[in-house]
Amino acid sequence: MDSLSKRVQAVTPSVTLAVTNQAKALIAQGEEVYGLAGGEPEMDTPNHIKAAAITALQDGKTKYTPAAGIPELREAIAKKLLTENQIEVETKGVCVTSGGKQACFNAILAVVEEGDEVIIPSPYWVSYPEMVRLAGGVPVMIETSAANGWKITAEQFEEAMTPATKMIILNSPGNPTGTIYTEDELKAIGEIASYEDIIIMSDEIYEKLVYGDKKHVSIASISEELSQLSVVVGGFSKAYSMTGWRLGYTATANAAIAQALSKIQGHTTSNATTFAQYGALAALEGPQDFIEDMRQEYDVRRQFVAGRLKSISNISFVEPEGAFYYFVDCTDMGLKSQNLCDKLLNRYKVAMVPGIAFGHDASVRLSYCTTLDVLAEGLSRFEEFCDSH
Ligand code: PLP
Repeated sequence: MDSLSKRVQAVTPSVTLAVTNQAKALIAQGEEVYGLAGGEPEMDTPNHIKAAAITALQDGKTKYTPAAGIPELREAIAKKLLTENQIEVETKGVCVTSGGKQACFNAILAVVEEGDEVIIPSPYWVSYPEMVRLAGGVPVMIETSAANGWKITAEQFEEAMTPATKMIILNSPGNPTGTIYTEDELKAIGEIASYEDIIIMSDEIYEKLVYGDKKHVSIASISEELSQLSVVVGGFSKAYSMTGWRLGYTATANAAIAQALSKIQGHTTSNATTFAQYGALAALEGPQDFIEDMRQEYDVRRQFVAGRLKSISNISFVEPEGAFYYFVDCTDMGLKSQNLCDKLLNRYKVAMVPGIAFGHDASVRLSYCTTLDVLAEGLSRFEEFCDSH
């Protein structure tokens, strides 16, 4: 349609939302659907966080805040980044956003110009390429493989670089693969980025969901130079089960980028919801045991899923190290991922996300952020489905 901008026409609608809608339509028809497609913790937000937001509402915290957020929350985020992640950012380097998603979009908008290339390791989170396109940039995917743990190497990064490269997007722990980059791997990638002053958007929204002996390291913590080149994206959705609150943040030591991020925020949403920000403050300042309990719970489910998937002969997978997804290679079934997921949903009532959404058409994404009962039944049905192909 002529009235639509070229930018918007270049964007593909979200496949993950489409799956959710299909599943909802079946549920509305009275079907029982085993939802293994979601991207949010199923537990409720802890009560002390809710209580803080309720108090804020009752105290009249119902007006605009500064665009980059209430000073107390920005300060608390800067302190958290220093103590937990060894990232040095000033309070003014933090901008509170309406979710990690807006944080990513702001970061991309702040640095990407028409025609700039943004390097994205593939499989990737569904929104990165579309955000780059909306900003007028060109997403450049680097293919990774299960054999390499779904990670790019510094050599691949170097090869993909052109004079138009402006940014690289890193997502560790990663969605959809659950991969985690080690400090050495980040150092090697960071070294390449430093040669050409490539901005690094480091999406660390799953930082708290790390399993076994793996450790989350932020590339921004590696050196002063890399902290200047990095925009860290974090949030409250996954760590504190606050997806509906729509709260995230960008953090950077780069003063010019920090200013740009606040400027974008000021002209788009003005500020993240005021009373919700007080909830986020309580999340950071209150007890943190919820996170560890949740992490342990997901680790149990992760191991449960591994056990069940291992007994299916015509699939393969790399055991995830973080987040709450399995990226399952279904090449042997010879189906396109959308077709596979449609059949799985319509015939077996199990919802998963087609890998094509993440740039990998031979795979499907299975989420284990649901109860063990749903996982058990969903996986039995998935096994039946695989056996019949
Ligand atoms: N980044 C990644 C990798 C995600 O998977 C998600 C949500 O699924 C987000 C960012 C956005 O999170 P939020 O709900 O805080 O906007």
